[in-house]
Amino acid sequence: MNGLQLEAREFHAFEAAGERFVYLVPSAAVFRLDSATSAILERLSTGPRRLDALIDGLAGSFDEEDVKNGVYDLMETRAIGPAGAPPDTMPVEVPPADFPLTTMVLNVTSKCNLSCTYCYEYGEDRLVDEGTMPRYMDEQTAQESVEFMLAQSKAKDAVNLTFFGGETLLNFKLLQKTLDYARRRGVEEGKQVRFSLTTNGTLLKPDVIEWLSANDVGVTISIDGPKDTNDKFRVLSNGLGSYEMIVPKVRQLLERHSTRPIGARVTLTQQNLDVHRIFRHLTEEVGFREVGFAPVTTSSCQSYALDEASYDRMLVQFQELAREWLEAAVDDRFHGFSNVRESVEEIHKGFSKAYPCGAGLGLMGVGTDGNVSLCHRFAGSSEHRLGSVTEGVDREKQAAFLEEHHLAYKPDCHSCWARPLCSGGCYHEAQTRYGTTRAPNLHYCDWIRSWTHTCLEVYGELSERNPSFLRHFEA
Ligand code: SF4
Ligand code: SF4
Repeated sequence: MNGLQLEAREFHAFEAAGERFVYLVPSAAVFRLDSATSAILERLSTGPRRLDALIDGLAGSFDEEDVKNGVYDLMETRAIGPAGAPPDTMPVEVPPADFPLTTMVLNVTSKCNLSCTYCYEYGEDRLVDEGTMPRYMDEQTAQESVEFMLAQSKAKDAVNLTFFGGETLLNFKLLQKTLDYARRRGVEEGKQVRFSLTTNGTLLKPDVIEWLSANDVGVTISIDGPKDTNDKFRVLSNGLGSYEMIVPKVRQLLERHSTRPIGARVTLTQQNLDVHRIFRHLTEEVGFREVGFAPVTTSSCQSYALDEASYDRMLVQFQELAREWLEAAVDDRFHGFSNVRESVEEIHKGFSKAYPCGAGLGLMGVGTDGNVSLCHRFAGSSEHRLGSVTEGVDREKQAAFLEEHHLAYKPDCHSCWARPLCSGGCYHEAQTRYGTTRAPNLHYCDWIRSWTHTCLEVYGELSERNPSFLRHFEA
């Protein structure tokens, strides 16, 4: 054993709360280093060494037993290993064909009453085949979709039904009928059906609000912050901004619908990047509980696409809000920055993704015509069709998709330490940027790695200063 040549394996080091940690890439685990393991890793960072050389080199600070125990711990966690051993392989384990559906996103209409300039449903970024999709889903297709969802959820005792658009509430009558139908059929099948929807907020009339509240429907509102920022892109067809129309209705919703937290979803663009101001406005002035930010999905030639400097600006602001979130979590207070909450939860749960998201697997989108696609963003694209709610999923096509999109087939990502959490990024973004869902989103790697590093620091610090908070993520 003493003659064993050791080398550092794949990890990402970070510091938090005055302690040193490593994020162990093959196992996606976080490991806190003590003084001995830290010193061993430091030595090995300059090249492979024999165990007896490590013991001799560290003899001034640690006795032999400490070094051996440290080496054992680091080998156990695969932070180090025998020199020259082949790297951990990335087996292509395609999930089985009967993998259950946990979320169905139902596009109840492709029509919208806003004309947001950056919307992927319109313009050059549009993936929908022209003229093929009915503007509204009909009742029969909605019921067939519910049957599809219940059948595809297999042995799961709960399933999520998310209504989406276009502007979802333009088909409010269908929403009401479909929710009643799904609830009744869920009871008959012994399954809980959870409902949510995304809306632009323009059609939140009192009867709609009442219905959302009475039926415990989770709501996400698309809104980009104060009037001047929101109205840059979120406009009516006559070019007028939508803020004044939306916010009084959102306030009524927030007042009446208290059983489920109402979240805001903000699209960040080159022209709309004041994350702090948007966050404060939406939480403190409007009253949203949580706010999530997403950079606009578009090809790089659009004037609103984020450039490198904008990604940097976004990162700095995200980091500042993440620190605020951390201080709140240390004091057991809630803070509504959902981007960091979601990442910290994934780190805590040790997520190691072969796929960036559940699209085409546990999550599927259904278009107004009843065709099933990878997710809601691909509804209406025949290229990304996986079947239909009446014919079921084309299992051969799904298996081919899952095999082709496995992380193992993204060689650019294989040496990236952030791959367990990123796995190449959103397929829709890849399609828009590179013309294929198979491409990893290499335009934002630096951003993803910097943001993941920040979230690891937040996680490490929280685990030192208030570890009990992390139990929130264990339910
Ligand atoms: S897309 Fe970039 S950041 Fe994401 S896993 Fe691949 S190389 Fe890493
Ligand atoms: S492909 Fe993109 S938009 Fe679709 S579910 Fe995945 S992350 Fe979301």
